[in-house]
Amino acid sequence: MNNSFASPAARAATSPIPFDNSYARLPAHFHASANPTPVSEPWLIKFNRALATELGLDADTLERDGAAIFSGNAVPEGAEPLGMAYAGHQFGQFVPLLGDGRAILLGEVIDRNGVRRDIQLKGAGKTPYSRRGDGRAALGPVLREYIVSESMHALGIPATRALAAVVTGEPVYRERVLPGAVFTRVAASHIRVGTFQFLAARGDTEGVKTLADYVIERHYPEIKGHARAYLALLEAVTERQASLIARWLCVGFIHGVMNTDNCAISGETIDFGPCAFLDAYDPAKVFSSIDQGGRYAYASQPAIGQWNMARLAETLLPLLDQEPSEAVNLANDVIAGYGPRFQSHWLAGMKAKIGLHSEEDGDLELVQGLLTAMHRNEADFTLTFRRLCDAAESSASDGALRELFSDPADIDAWLSAWRERTGREPLSVAQTASAMRTVNPAFVPRNHRIEQAIRAAEDDCDFSLFEALLTVLSKPYEDQPGFAAYAAPPQPQEEVLRTFCGT
Ligand code: AMP
Ligand code: MG
Repeated sequence: MNNSFASPAARAATSPIPFDNSYARLPAHFHASANPTPVSEPWLIKFNRALATELGLDADTLERDGAAIFSGNAVPEGAEPLGMAYAGHQFGQFVPLLGDGRAILLGEVIDRNGVRRDIQLKGAGKTPYSRRGDGRAALGPVLREYIVSESMHALGIPATRALAAVVTGEPVYRERVLPGAVFTRVAASHIRVGTFQFLAARGDTEGVKTLADYVIERHYPEIKGHARAYLALLEAVTERQASLIARWLCVGFIHGVMNTDNCAISGETIDFGPCAFLDAYDPAKVFSSIDQGGRYAYASQPAIGQWNMARLAETLLPLLDQEPSEAVNLANDVIAGYGPRFQSHWLAGMKAKIGLHSEEDGDLELVQGLLTAMHRNEADFTLTFRRLCDAAESSASDGALRELFSDPADIDAWLSAWRERTGREPLSVAQTASAMRTVNPAFVPRNHRIEQAIRAAEDDCDFSLFEALLTVLSKPYEDQPGFAAYAAPPQPQEEVLRTFCGT
């Protein structure tokens, strides 16, 4: 039998990745076939065996042949490598054609839970969408994406996953010459707001409808058959974005480049370029070297999420109602609903961080009071909340918390208001403290630690810091005394002032 007609089950017997591809079946202009460009001396740095098992892959074969497979040198049977077409607003400017310029979708698998997942190589060479780019990735950004995406997952925040990282043995040319690498990313899908924009910008309403139907089937099956399915889709995507961005804020995460082409329809965090975590709390904080206007500052993220959802809504207008003005009204209502949705997720998240589960007037002000004191005193975001867990157990631990504030007296009034309020919570102090420890991480991927891991790998081919970070970040809510140093903020000379997207 001709192999290309082999059933997924038959292919599974011969391929370490039992592909079952659906995106490749969508209309031809949704994508372009793109074979990986072989590299000279691939070497497997890291393979995520647990994830491979979750995906139902042949982990032994992948580990053995990982250098060839995850570099793109050997394309496993059943793969149908392609670049996805998309558009996007980049820092507010619409670009009608972007597409995967340095990412190649190998195909999809159905994981152990029955969920369809994409497997994509990032940095595997040029595609028809590469424009002037080289289609390659440098080692630093690959390690950064590996660390941060796996950390987000361990924190319980929806995110794409890291399956493997390979060095290519070839240089890439950026501001300086850097070692090349390929990152293997796993996503619920790589469909973005920009994928809808690509079709809508061409007046391809039929294409938008085909994509929307595909997305409903793949990500939102519960709305299938809904009387206004496309409106329900807009609502569902909006809900997931509001929830996602609330969760980012609760751990101090700054995405850094939330363009519409980096905003996943599935509700996963995607594209870890110049992303960073707050050390000292500052709502206006920006790390990204390319975000000069602060469009994607920490506290601007909720509003940008809404802006991105408005751009998605525009693409769906022809599907929402035959009457254009009615379509606009329906879309506007959903977009207006984003604010309250975000606010309710954020407040619930922040209240849990300070140990509040019941509802009282004044809870919002209590949360804001703490943030104001943290900002005024440049208190470390992660440590403040983690040490507050100990303070919830006993005021004997207040000292360690007060130390984080440049003027410790500034937190005292807040602590007494907080104790009065938590005193009316039904849980015991021990229960409150342990609940708080499940939402206030001890460990986040601090920028200086990522930087140190990248430096050691780039300069000395030493991946031990990268490995240590992955280990400590896999259990972010546990104290792990052996790794106490990883909980600490940077020394002044270690502080990372700027992050780069590394394209
Ligand atoms: P990103 O900054 O990764 O979100 O990428 C934005 C756009 O630029 C996407 O269309 C990418 O595919 C493209 N791009 C980024 N880096 C490269 C590269 N080295 N070669 C080709 N295209 C790239
Ligand atoms: Mg991108």
